[in-house]
Amino acid sequence: MNYQIWGHTHRHAVEEILLHLLPDCAAGEGDDTGGDFCKSVLSVQGDTFTASASVRVKGRCCEGKCIDTVKGGSDPLARKRLETELVKLAVYDAIVPAFRQPPVWGALTGVRPAKLARSLIDRGRSPEETEAWLREHFYVSPERAALTMSAAKMAQEMDRKRSKNGISLYVGIPFCPTRCSYCSFISSAVEKNAALIEPYVEALCREVLESGALAKSLGLTVDSLYIGGGTPTTLSSIQLDRLLSALENAFDLSRLFDYTVEAGRPDTITLEKLAVLRAHGVTRVSVNPQSMDDEVLRLAGRKHTAQDVIERYMQVRETGFQSVNMDLIAGLAGDSPDGFAKTVDTLLDLGPENITVHTLAVKRGADLRDISANLAQQEQVGHMLTYAQNVLSAHNYHAYYLYRQKFSAGGFENVGWCRPGAENFYNVSMMEELQTVVSLGAGGVSKRVDRITGKIERFTNPKYPAEYLGAQERILQGKRRLLEK
Ligand code: SF4
Repeated sequence: MNYQIWGHTHRHAVEEILLHLLPDCAAGEGDDTGGDFCKSVLSVQGDTFTASASVRVKGRCCEGKCIDTVKGGSDPLARKRLETELVKLAVYDAIVPAFRQPPVWGALTGVRPAKLARSLIDRGRSPEETEAWLREHFYVSPERAALTMSAAKMAQEMDRKRSKNGISLYVGIPFCPTRCSYCSFISSAVEKNAALIEPYVEALCREVLESGALAKSLGLTVDSLYIGGGTPTTLSSIQLDRLLSALENAFDLSRLFDYTVEAGRPDTITLEKLAVLRAHGVTRVSVNPQSMDDEVLRLAGRKHTAQDVIERYMQVRETGFQSVNMDLIAGLAGDSPDGFAKTVDTLLDLGPENITVHTLAVKRGADLRDISANLAQQEQVGHMLTYAQNVLSAHNYHAYYLYRQKFSAGGFENVGWCRPGAENFYNVSMMEELQTVVSLGAGGVSKRVDRITGKIERFTNPKYPAEYLGAQERILQGKRRLLEK
């Protein structure tokens, strides 16, 4: 869809709201050629802003208009914020009346709703006013507004808890036994890249030692440690032992709030590996079935059954882990609301402390072409999420962090649910950008969070394991430049 802007420069706002409402529209600035088209206009008179939008979609023309007055008068930031809001709202106002059901997130775009809620609270609104504002100003559904406020409250608590010079540490292992059909990560299947694993672990241990020395020289302490991927338990027990020992030697891990290792694929879990994790003080393990329906697992390209998940989960418990997370995905090919409900119920019977409910995100790199016809419909995904929300709440789980992804089915969200007291600091800190994150390994994105200005700067490690090997000097220099500012 082509669009034009008049009287403002907020191209990104126009593209964001068009993509949010019409995910297939491929918005780009251009002339009206008679096809789908959007014209966004902003006019300003003193402190009053008027945004209007004329949109043509599949031959149907519609108009939207929004007017508001800036509070804070000449504050340029407040004016800019209001301009982008109104530009989006006018497009929303034009398009949404044609929808059978309005989007659950209304006109709210962006991946971190709770961060927005916290910033509103910081600017003087009460939590109740903030929740009402999300509903009334951005048309967020009452359920999503409540989820947002629950996550915002937890972020405030975690923000009080974090150490003054604390950082979160992330270590990435970009290998998995096989590649899932929906995978949007950089992970490589072991069968194709087995020879890379050993040199990868060696290079990673070097990065761990160098980054640890840098962190210590800057007086940074580690609040939380998360080893993810990929599937970290793809490594052998000896490789895991080497990596975890390097982390202990390099960083002071004595004051961690939590220490998570993803053991996502049950076909990689062994008692020996679990014993290594325990011996190194790992507090939380993530076993991720995604579905407990064998046919859905098969369509997803996972080479394990639901029974394998149950058996490995039992092993994790027998090894003594007190905190377990299990990930699910709503909207997988071949799944249905009934099937998804059974999956949720099975997990509730197992009783992990954390259950994370994701919505299928279709991204570049995912191989879904052959089975896309089987993808659950958006409405069905909505039913799945509603079921999860109702039943998890009824079983004493609460939503403690959430984020949205572009291209997720139906514009829905991913939500971390947990039993009271089992909130994972890393997940909240990461999602809400509470503190600096140092990421190690291929594709790792380190973020320096300036708590005073709110400015966030990034340094990204080479994306693929083959590029990562041999880039150690460049990575260390980049990290040093980022962290020494
Ligand atoms: S387990 Fe996760 S990272 Fe690995 S292939 Fe599947 S989706 Fe990708």
